Amino acid sequence: MLILVINSGSSSLKYQLIDCEDRSVHAKGMCERIGIDDPIFKHEDANGYKIKEPREMKTHGDAVRIMLETLLDPEHPVIGSLDEIAAVGHRVVHGGPYFSESVLITDEHKEAIRMCYEWCPLHNRANLAGIEVCEEAMPGIPQVGVFDTAFHQTMPPEAYMYGIPYNYYEENAIRRYGFHGTSHEFVSRRAAEMTKHDPETYRLITCHLGNGASFCAIKGGKVIDTSMGLTPLEGIMMGTRCGSIDPAIVLAIGRLGNFTPDQVDDILNKESGVLGISGVSSDFRDVQDAAEAGNERAQLAIKMFCYQAVKIMGSYIAALGGIDTIVFTAGIGENDDIVRKYICDGISYRGLVIDDELNKIRGKEIVLSTEESAVEVFVIPTNEELSIALQTAEVLEIEKCSHL
Ligand code: ADP
Repeated sequence: MLILVINSGSSSLKYQLIDCEDRSVHAKGMCERIGIDDPIFKHEDANGYKIKEPREMKTHGDAVRIMLETLLDPEHPVIGSLDEIAAVGHRVVHGGPYFSESVLITDEHKEAIRMCYEWCPLHNRANLAGIEVCEEAMPGIPQVGVFDTAFHQTMPPEAYMYGIPYNYYEENAIRRYGFHGTSHEFVSRRAAEMTKHDPETYRLITCHLGNGASFCAIKGGKVIDTSMGLTPLEGIMMGTRCGSIDPAIVLAIGRLGNFTPDQVDDILNKESGVLGISGVSSDFRDVQDAAEAGNERAQLAIKMFCYQAVKIMGSYIAALGGIDTIVFTAGIGENDDIVRKYICDGISYRGLVIDDELNKIRGKEIVLSTEESAVEVFVIPTNEELSIALQTAEVLEIEKCSHL
């Protein structure tokens, strides 16, 4: 079953055509700089045929048209006809309180995606634009929405409520939603296959450590807490995001610079975190290099990142009533042995022991914990596109059943 996965951003559109049965990628590509200067189209198929060239792309509709023409190109066909695509799975960032699972998109769902604009205007607008242009370009092919927030909807109210006046929850739906749900779900399912523990009571913490970083506490397959909140700004400090800080600092920064709310938003989202502290980069590879060369602010940034990770994880171990497995994933989690070592040392009071030799491996699935470790530690490469494709296929199967 071929599923086309679409991740539509404000000026980009990424796609992968995935066979859900054998999990192979038949083609993937990206339309960049849509609607701005010098748009670029990149495409690659499973036979190694590659395109990277400037193309006219004024709208997301243009991007989808170019993608489909390329997939159907008689010289290098990936598919013979659009009928071979069983469904399109769309990444949607914010599902608010409306979506606790992936859905076959209807007009009501589109309205609900619009209702979430308030909290994630750029992403959700772009995601909905992607859905609407695909509906037009591929009539009759099911369009499925897969939400970054949906996996976290099992959190109990004591985990998702903020201590602010209740009417903000009732009237404005201000609460914790959490993000990276497709990634946390994907690696937690894989961990459940790898573990020796009973799935009914299985307690794990998944650590998605990339440019954005979030933690998820999962018990018996259900999320009980997660570190990102109403928006992806909360939690641990990240590449350029400040993470959790005293809320009064937000006001202080605004007053100090006489900044508008949007300017403060930019400072906290784009100029803070590892970049803001190190002054070097938001990219962990650069920061690690600088730290090794003796840059003290780079060293501090890495220590802060790891310390905050351990603090969050310690609180989740308490919330879970113990811990069976820790999973590292995403760019830093899959590759950065220094960060993994620091965090694991911080949890060693639980009897967690890792194999330092295995920890040198990058970008592969590994069991990092030793035989005698009281806590399992897994590195599981995430694959958000495959996760979206699998969830889309699941929705289709359910739909098929409901028509029987
Ligand atoms: P996102 O998908 O959130 O943009 P990624 O999951 O790609 O982010 O992670 C990006 C981060 O992973 C960057 O900080 C990058 O430096 C880090 N990273 C990638 N490869 C390595 C590596 N080999 N060693 C250390 N950090 C790495």
